Amino acid sequence: MPSVTMPFDPLRRSEETELLVMNGRDRLYSKFRAAPYYGGIATADAIGCSFLCAYCWNYGRNEDPARFGKFYPPENVARKLLEIARKRSFSLFRVTGSEPILGEASFDHLVAVMESILNAEPRSNFILETNGLMLGYKKGLAQRLNFQRVIVRIAVKGVDPESFEKVTGARSEFFDYPLIALRTLRQVGVRAWLALMGDLFSEPQIGELKRTLKERGIDADLELEGLEAYPFVLENLRRRGIGIA
Ligand code: SF4
Repeated sequence: MPSVTMPFDPLRRSEETELLVMNGRDRLYSKFRAAPYYGGIATADAIGCSFLCAYCWNYGRNEDPARFGKFYPPENVARKLLEIARKRSFSLFRVTGSEPILGEASFDHLVAVMESILNAEPRSNFILETNGLMLGYKKGLAQRLNFQRVIVRIAVKGVDPESFEKVTGARSEFFDYPLIALRTLRQVGVRAWLALMGDLFSEPQIGELKRTLKERGIDADLELEGLEAYPFVLENLRRRGIGIA
């Protein structure tokens, strides 16, 4: 799937990507590592996403996922992450660099990884980093995340439908899905917060997003993340006409 015409339907992209990055219960991963974020977290870098964000540090792999990585069953992913955490005395785990939930198969894989880890390390937490598309689209998935010690971080990508489309490459009407995801997770008792790439938006634009959240009755913390300004990221932003605020 290397050539991507924007704006695209992210649900269709999700489905197509899942076929490439899942093989039965196994998913494609490129790396397992100790990362400094959140004060230290055992991290698995998976491949494949429903969006293609201009600032994605994993852009090349997510653009053409079939060319990279190796398939791992959930038990092996959990084992590798547990080894890293025990060696570094970490109590946090995550999957990043991709969208962990592309459809049912990748969701089942993720849940199996989380269950294995949290059963083995009962005092740990799993931070589920997601773009919220599938959790907003298939609301029944949220209920299956309702086990203790999973905390969900939803990246909203834009402050409105237009900026969402520019950043993600996905059609503007899908802007709502991450917000629906947050509301649904809250309704079923799952802890969740929102994140936005703060470097791309001015204070008034961020204020606009906060107003939208308030109007929709969404009361959530909003984390502002910083851009990892690799040269290819700056070039992708320039090509999409996105400036740094
Ligand atoms: S949602 Fe995340 S993983 Fe997917 S393209 Fe955007 S930044 Fe990359």
